[in-house]
Amino acid sequence: MRKPFLAGNWKMNKTVDEAVELAKELVENVGDVKDRDILICPTSLCLTEVAKIVKGTSVKLGAQNMSFEDSGAFTGEVSADMLLAAGCDYVIIGHSERREYYHEDNEAVNKKAKKALEKGINAIVCVGEKLEEREAGKAESVVEDHLKGAFSGISGEDAVKITIAYEPVWAIGTGKTATPEDADNMHAFIRKTLADIYDEAAAEKMRIQYGGSVKDSNVDELMARENIDGALVGGASLKADSFARIVKFK
Ligand code: PEP
Repeated sequence: MRKPFLAGNWKMNKTVDEAVELAKELVENVGDVKDRDILICPTSLCLTEVAKIVKGTSVKLGAQNMSFEDSGAFTGEVSADMLLAAGCDYVIIGHSERREYYHEDNEAVNKKAKKALEKGINAIVCVGEKLEEREAGKAESVVEDHLKGAFSGISGEDAVKITIAYEPVWAIGTGKTATPEDADNMHAFIRKTLADIYDEAAAEKMRIQYGGSVKDSNVDELMARENIDGALVGGASLKADSFARIVKFK
């Protein structure tokens, strides 16, 4: 059985004080949860302070991005060691906004995934097609390409430590959600692709989150689907009550 995994990506929102306030509210709203994993990903600047709030609670801490380099002259970058020292358990890799605005390609995503594995920080690797790719009937081939790129040279033993987030780009922040059926079909395709790269046993173990306008009003029907193991939530994770309701999906 795959443990449900609900993650909030706060993107470039919240000052340190606001992030601390939101984390406090969320911890209170969520309470003690054992049967699902809960994660919040504030900006790097807020990690140290938010870590103090979530320590010892059911809420884990993650970063939104990470360098594939260890240290040195890489202005503006943050390393895996820095994230671990700040209290992070997780890091999001290859979010579509990183791919689109900062030109992160499959090779960079792959290097980051390998660095995360080397350093022992849990990676959430994002994959997903753009609207024009879906309309051209290329959704599956784009997702397959993202997966093969991200997992290139990674063993099956390591691959199972990685979470995948399927995020159709056209559904992110737009209010448009893939239907639960469409999302589940793509998740099944992702699992089949993982079984082809590795084997059925590895593919069965791996958690696949859905992301794209997940809200308290649609989370239940998404989470009811066989291959949807969790959610990566943007906008609706910025309010403690809505994210707490998402975490408490039925
Ligand atoms: C995301 O940030 O990964 C995301 C899916 O955003 P939203 O929930 O706002 O669509």
